[in-house]
Amino acid sequence: MEPDYDRILADIAQEVRPLLALGAPADYIPALARVPRDRFGMAVRTLEGRIHAVGDADEPFSIQSVSKVFTFILALRSAGDGLWDRIQREPSGDPFNSPILLEQERGIPRNPFINAGALVVADILLEALEDPREELLRFVRARSGSGAVRADPEVAESERSTGHRNAALAHLLKSFGNLRNRVEEVLDFYFFQCSLRMSCRDLAASFLFLANRGLCPVSGERVLEPSPAKRAAALMLTCGTYDAVGDFVYRVGLPAKSGVGGGIAAILPGRLAAAVWSPGLNERGNSLAGTQALELFTTKTGMSIF
Ligand code: GLN
Repeated sequence: MEPDYDRILADIAQEVRPLLALGAPADYIPALARVPRDRFGMAVRTLEGRIHAVGDADEPFSIQSVSKVFTFILALRSAGDGLWDRIQREPSGDPFNSPILLEQERGIPRNPFINAGALVVADILLEALEDPREELLRFVRARSGSGAVRADPEVAESERSTGHRNAALAHLLKSFGNLRNRVEEVLDFYFFQCSLRMSCRDLAASFLFLANRGLCPVSGERVLEPSPAKRAAALMLTCGTYDAVGDFVYRVGLPAKSGVGGGIAAILPGRLAAAVWSPGLNERGNSLAGTQALELFTTKTGMSIF
């Protein structure tokens, strides 16, 4: 029997309210530091097309690193397994913007979901796609079924002006010969993808194809064959929530991808996708209330991948 999602989401929204004041927004990106901390939204979309939402689920927010799943999938479609010559697929155990392993492992990032890996993915897309920005937007709009998905130039500019760590990672990659395009071009596209804005409702819809063996129920298109779709979900499980991934999977039990805008997208294969947003982050950069909301969701519904 289907759980009573509306009641469960209402209960979750109430239970996480005291946590909203405890997290801290990502203030290293000035445009994100201004987002009010009291926001909380959550949306669940089932494969059958039912949508359940609570709180600020319709308010667009900066999805930041959640976009790394979309770019990774576009790169996988164009580069295929060749991508794995340039990026590993192991959790890093280090902060998402750390240069330490990149230096030790001679310019081959640990996975596509940390910043260094996403920069290599960006480099692949700059070579493979005619108009990478437009194609990324088109891809996300088609997956979510929403024309409201936008890039936010103010956030991108805010990141560019303070993105010294990302610039350092890109230069390090270039010095090891793992970027083909100019560092500035790669960073520009990377900041663009991080600046995508969408609501929980649209974000949940856009991840549904990963819960459906690569077939997008929103557009009816086959995005990936079942095998790479399964592998993308495996990567989310092992690498999607930074160096907190062990704790996250222990608590939540779903493949997920987080971003420092406070968003988290998660999938339950064969059933649903969920998106949650609350800007206050924990010390590892995952949404504090968002992580708790997903933990409550899998506990209350009794559903996870385990
Ligand atoms: N734009 C952010 C950065 O590069 C994305 C990081 C994130 O969401 N983890 O620092």
